[in-house]
Amino acid sequence: MTIELHNTLTRKKQVFKPANPKRVTFYVCGPTVYNHAHVGNFRPAVAFDLLFRVLRHHYGGEHVLYARNITDIEDKIIRAAQELNQPINAITQKYAQIYRDESAALNILPPSMEPAATDHISEIITLIDLLLQKGAAYCEQGHILFDINQFDDYGKLSNLNIDDMIAGARVEVAPYKRNAADFVLWKPSTDDEPGWDVPDQWDIKGKGRPGWHAECSAMIKKNLGTTIDIHAGGQDLRFPHHENEIAQSQCAYDAPLAHIWLHNGFLQMAGSDKMSKSLGNIVLVRDLLKKWPGEVLRWALLSAQYRQPLEWGDDLLAQSKKQLDRFYRLLSEHDDSHDNQKENNKTQIDAGVIGSLNDDLNTPGAMAALHALRDQAAAQKGNEKNHAIAILKASGQLMGFFNHQPKEWFKQDFTQSENGLNDTEIEALISERGKAKAAKDFARSDEIRDRLKENGIIIEDSATNTTWRRE
Ligand code: AMP
Ligand code: ZN
Repeated sequence: MTIELHNTLTRKKQVFKPANPKRVTFYVCGPTVYNHAHVGNFRPAVAFDLLFRVLRHHYGGEHVLYARNITDIEDKIIRAAQELNQPINAITQKYAQIYRDESAALNILPPSMEPAATDHISEIITLIDLLLQKGAAYCEQGHILFDINQFDDYGKLSNLNIDDMIAGARVEVAPYKRNAADFVLWKPSTDDEPGWDVPDQWDIKGKGRPGWHAECSAMIKKNLGTTIDIHAGGQDLRFPHHENEIAQSQCAYDAPLAHIWLHNGFLQMAGSDKMSKSLGNIVLVRDLLKKWPGEVLRWALLSAQYRQPLEWGDDLLAQSKKQLDRFYRLLSEHDDSHDNQKENNKTQIDAGVIGSLNDDLNTPGAMAALHALRDQAAAQKGNEKNHAIAILKASGQLMGFFNHQPKEWFKQDFTQSENGLNDTEIEALISERGKAKAAKDFARSDEIRDRLKENGIIIEDSATNTTWRRE
C-alpha cells in the first residue's frame, strides 16, 4: 500500500516516496511559547500527529524522525516577559510544558525531537554567515536581511507574485530593507533584550538575535538533514514563513529544503473567519479540557480532512462525544482476556481505515470505516465478535482513539472541574509538583502552584508533606 499526500509545492496529490525508507524525515513548525494555545493551534498538531502515526505504521517506529520545534525566542515572548516582569526562560519553559501536557491530553505522541531555537544559535549564525558569503544576505543598520532578488524561485510555494504576496500578508516595511519582501535574518538587541555575540567578520556591532524564519532552517539542517521528506504547518505559514525557509535553505545549501509540503486549513468560528488571537474569537484548549475529554477534542479536530476548513462549536463537540460514547459502549463488551501481541499487530488494522488514511489523511473516510466496523461487530457473537472488536480497537488506536478503559470513559465527570479542579486533579497536580521540586524543575513547580491558586486551592508545605485546602 502506498501513501498519497497533497503537495502544496506541486498542487497535486502524489505518491509519497521517502528518500530513505529507513530514515523518513518530517518537520512541523511548532508553537511559539508565551501564552496558552487555542484549539486552532492544535489542528496542525493533531493532524500531523496522525501522519506521524501513519508513517510509523508503514515504515516502523524507529525509521521515522519527526521534529516539531519550540520557538522560544521571538519578539512576542520578549514583550510578554517584560509585561509580566519575569525572566524569558521562565515563561518559555512554563508554556512549553503546558503545550506538552495539553498535547498528551489530546493523545498527541511526543515527536522524535523537540528542538528549541535558543539551543541552535550557533547553527543559525553559521547559516546566516553562509548566506552573507554567497551574497544572498546583506547588513543594514544593525540588521542582516535576506535579499529575495537573489532567489529566482521566491514565491513558488505560494504560487503568487511578490507584489500579491506583500499585499496579502503583513510584511513589515522598514528603512533598512532594499525590497519590502526582504526579511530579517538577524536583528540587534538592546541591553534588556536577549542577545548573542556575532562573528567578527559581520558588519555589525553588539549583541543580536535571530529572526523567526532562520530558526527553522537551521534546526532542520542540524537535526534532520539538508533535504527532508515532508515539511508541514498551518496554511498561514505558507507565506512568508515557509517561502522564507525555502529561500534561506536552498541558497545556503544548494538543495531543496523539502520534497513535500503540507498545509492544514483553518479552524473557524461560526460567523467569522479563522480562529485567531487578533480576531478575539479564540477558545483555549485548557478551558475545553475542563469540560470535555481530550479524545473528544481530537475526534472533533479530525472530523474534517486536514486541508478543509473546519467550523468549531459546541455542536461539533457534543456530536463527537456522542460518537465516541457509541464506540466505547461496544468496546465495553470486549473480553480482552484473549488479547495478545498478535491482536495488536499491524495486520489487524482494518483495510478501510488505513486505506482512507493513506489517501492524504482522509479522516472522514477513516471514521466512516470505524463506524462500519462497529456496526459489523455489534451484529456478531462470541469469538467472532471479540475478534471484530479487537480490529476496531486497534484501528481506532492507530488514529489515537480508544485509549481509555470503557469503564473509565463513562466514569469521567466534568461537573466539578467546570467550576474548578476536582479532588483527583488536585492530588495529581500536587504529586507532580513534588516530583518537579525533587528534580529542581522550579519553573514547573511554581507553575503548578499558580494553577492551583488560580483555582482557589491553597497548598501548604511542611518538612514531610504537602496539604491543601479550598480557599
Ligand atoms: P502560531 O503559534 O500562531 O505560530 O500557530 C501555531 C500553528 O497553528 C501554526 O502552524 C498555525 O498555522 C496554526 N494555526 C493557527 N491558527 C489556526 C487556526 N485557526 N486553524 C488552524 N491552524 C491554525
Ligand atoms: Zn518553521
